[in-house]
Amino acid sequence: MREAFRRVHGADPEGIWAAPGRVNLIGEHTDYNDGFALPIALPQRTLVAARRRQDGRLRLHSAQGGGPVLDLHIDRLTAGAVTTWGAYPAGVVWALREAGHPVGGADLHIDSTVPTGAGLSSSAALECAVAFACNDLYDLGLDAPALALIAQRAENGFAGVPCGAMDQLASACCAQGAALHLDLRAGTHEQIPFAPEAQGMSLLAVDTRVKHDLGDGAYARLRAGCEHAARLLGVAALRDLGPEDLPHAAEVLPSALVPLVRHVVTENARVSRAVTHLRAGRVTSLGPILTDGHTSLRDDFRISCAESDLVVDTALAHGAHGARMTGGGFGGSVIVLAEEDRVDWIGEAVTTAFRKAGHRDPHLLPVSPAAGARRVG
Ligand code: ADP
Ligand code: MG
Repeated sequence: MREAFRRVHGADPEGIWAAPGRVNLIGEHTDYNDGFALPIALPQRTLVAARRRQDGRLRLHSAQGGGPVLDLHIDRLTAGAVTTWGAYPAGVVWALREAGHPVGGADLHIDSTVPTGAGLSSSAALECAVAFACNDLYDLGLDAPALALIAQRAENGFAGVPCGAMDQLASACCAQGAALHLDLRAGTHEQIPFAPEAQGMSLLAVDTRVKHDLGDGAYARLRAGCEHAARLLGVAALRDLGPEDLPHAAEVLPSALVPLVRHVVTENARVSRAVTHLRAGRVTSLGPILTDGHTSLRDDFRISCAESDLVVDTALAHGAHGARMTGGGFGGSVIVLAEEDRVDWIGEAVTTAFRKAGHRDPHLLPVSPAAGARRVG
């Protein structure tokens, strides 16, 4: 990173920061409903080497971004002005300044092992790495959750991607060997010890390498549907409902909204069950919860796709404890929980099934609960 930084920016960086991608074990599409989620940070992470500048320029370079250095000025950052990958790091500087934090210019060089666009949150990893770098370089004194919210603000307000706070909180706040129990209403989180390998278990992320266009606009539609249902039911958010409220909801809501409510309510309950099992060290019990979560996203939220379903079905047919699609839907990655000695076999079976169905080979990424964002050099 230091050498690459010197090549690009002609000086030494002041430090190096890292922020991981994430995979959510359970609790999908719950964040914008004030609910719960249970992500882990990935070993795959984004590194940022950085150095302050006195002239207010923001010079951005990424090994993945392609192209030359993006040369911006912090006084001219306005929402929508940057339309390339640079919107994510520039958005962080914009969001910090909007919130009144004294951030000046900087030279940044970025490199990452998080696959982009695979639903493993390379965007949050990039934002959080930059947010942590700015926090240290300009001595802002913000803690990890505050930096996560700045990163989310960058993605929503500057890059123009409406997302909840789960991705950024996961990247910023996760700890090694733990899943992060998030309460998105209270804004609180708790580390739940989770070491699948200690029980002979492995997690495999399968990047389906598809992103169906169908997904465009679906997020906004689902989110609006959930918020509409909450209004009709007279609650602040769907988080305020429990399974016992579902019969009443089914009676009074338009039929299109009922499955949305059912997914969010049962998904929050699944997070709570997962946490109970993990606290008791019952890692295998997580499996059926993952699979139930997939069924709910497939049948109630209707955001799965043939490729994700094929991964889940193939993994289960080959003895996985559980599997589910993660992320926004219509492609992206699937998370599989299986015995360690079966994982390679499952990966091969999924690849074979993809070839038979005429899909591109999926990418297989062994993952384990890793550390959140921090300074590393
Ligand atoms: P995901 O977050 O699931 O990977 P997104 O579409 O939210 O998918 O974010 C991917 C985008 O984030 C990329 O298209 C790119 O613009 C930006 N990005 C992520 N990581 C990097 C990186 N290392 N260098 C440059 N841009 C990146
Ligand atoms: Mg993203």
